[in-house]
Amino acid sequence: MNVINPATEEVISVLTPDTAATVAAKLKALRAGQKNWQNHSVEERLAIIERFGELVVENKPELARILTSETGKPISQSINEINGSLGRIQHLKINAEKWLESEMITPKDATVEFITHEPLGVIANISAWNFPYNVGYNVFLYALVAGNAVLYKPSEFASLTGLKFGALLHEAGVPANVFEVVIGSGAVGQYLLEADLDGYFFTGSYKTGVHITQTVAHKLVPVQLELGGKDPLYVMDDVVDVRQAAINAAEGAFYNNGQSCCAVERIYVQEDIYEEFVQHFTEEVKSYKLGDPMEEDTFTGPLTRPQQIAVLADQIKDAVAKGAQLVLGGESLNRKGYFMSPAVLTGVNHTMELMREESFGPIIGIQKVSSDEEATDLMRDTPYGLTAAVFSEDEARARKVLDQMNVGTVYWNCCDRVSPNIPWSGRKNSGLGATLSYMGIRAFTQPKAYHWRG
Ligand code: NDP
Repeated sequence: MNVINPATEEVISVLTPDTAATVAAKLKALRAGQKNWQNHSVEERLAIIERFGELVVENKPELARILTSETGKPISQSINEINGSLGRIQHLKINAEKWLESEMITPKDATVEFITHEPLGVIANISAWNFPYNVGYNVFLYALVAGNAVLYKPSEFASLTGLKFGALLHEAGVPANVFEVVIGSGAVGQYLLEADLDGYFFTGSYKTGVHITQTVAHKLVPVQLELGGKDPLYVMDDVVDVRQAAINAAEGAFYNNGQSCCAVERIYVQEDIYEEFVQHFTEEVKSYKLGDPMEEDTFTGPLTRPQQIAVLADQIKDAVAKGAQLVLGGESLNRKGYFMSPAVLTGVNHTMELMREESFGPIIGIQKVSSDEEATDLMRDTPYGLTAAVFSEDEARARKVLDQMNVGTVYWNCCDRVSPNIPWSGRKNSGLGATLSYMGIRAFTQPKAYHWRG
């Protein structure tokens, strides 16, 4: 299996994919390892995960280069991701023991009642390439601390990073038969669905999420899905600094080339400030340095997967045919690599795919609205339910709009943000279940209820 650098189209590594037989052997080993791992105290498991965090810090420059070389993520953003994801370890360190300890419910009754939180067993973590540290840690670190063994399949587009996770976890003290990496494409992922695992934790597209859920349904084991979004941002007419709102919105839309599950995917702007907002927004996007992702000041690198360029080109074509104006970008570069300049479209509406289908790339539509009611209706007009954002000076006005959103996360005067302190979850086509917060560790446990008569 060739690993290709999306900025140069060069093969940077050749890996041997797993087979049904190697997946079965890894699972067998994990079954044995998990029993022992669950007998370690939470404190011992946490100490190992903390050591893993230290090793990540010690190896940060190399890890960032690996991530950039296989995904095209600009190097400064690779470093940001590695730094930011360490917050998950800190969060576990502070909270995991308290969330995993047994809970006494009725200590004084004739029948004493209490709950313990047992690990699920051996779980599958099928992960995505766009933020492998963040979305990986959300699952495999929390699962390990809770006493599970993990069969981890990185996306084929982040395989080298996935292999590094395995090597560093083992070096930190996670036994080899407690965390195993499976290398390969979706076809190899399919072997995991057929294997006898105790839970499926997936980050990726709606289509694959549904396929996984249907395939493993008969096992009656937990399935958790972190899927895509079509996340709206509404800029109200009372924002004091329209330019700053435009800068923040552009970053929400174009950070990591728009390849974030919670990237701003559509923008609604109140008519009184629309022209001014569009002008500042396009100026800001024009200032982004596009090019070699290994250079520290590059903000926009190549797309990770070449096939996404055709998806984005179709969205632009469809929108323009229906009356939108392409005010900036959408061009390929005269160089090797999967590059497309960030595209800004105005005069858009909901008949256009751009405003309805996940873009997952450097493209945004900005639509004019005349009232909060109109914006609310448009923001709700989607099969997805990941996040929604409002920029406004007026908290009550923003809250009124955001309370009507059927999404897992709402943002007032911020966007494109994930915190380990509060749950990360999608509704409708954006997912099932939650990671992070106490919910994100309980997700990897099953309760046992004790009815205790002395
Ligand atoms: P995919 O659904 O294509 O792939 C996700 C993972 O599933 C990959 O590891 C992939 O392997 C694997 N896979 C594909 N087919 C199968 C199969 N039949 N059986 C088992 N595994 C399979 O998603 P992308 O990689 O394109 O990721 C982008 C998507 O992820 C976007 O929709 C994005 O919004 C979403 N996402 C959501 C997040 C959230 O927290 N809500 C966070 C990050 C991304 P391979 O890549 O090797 O083909």
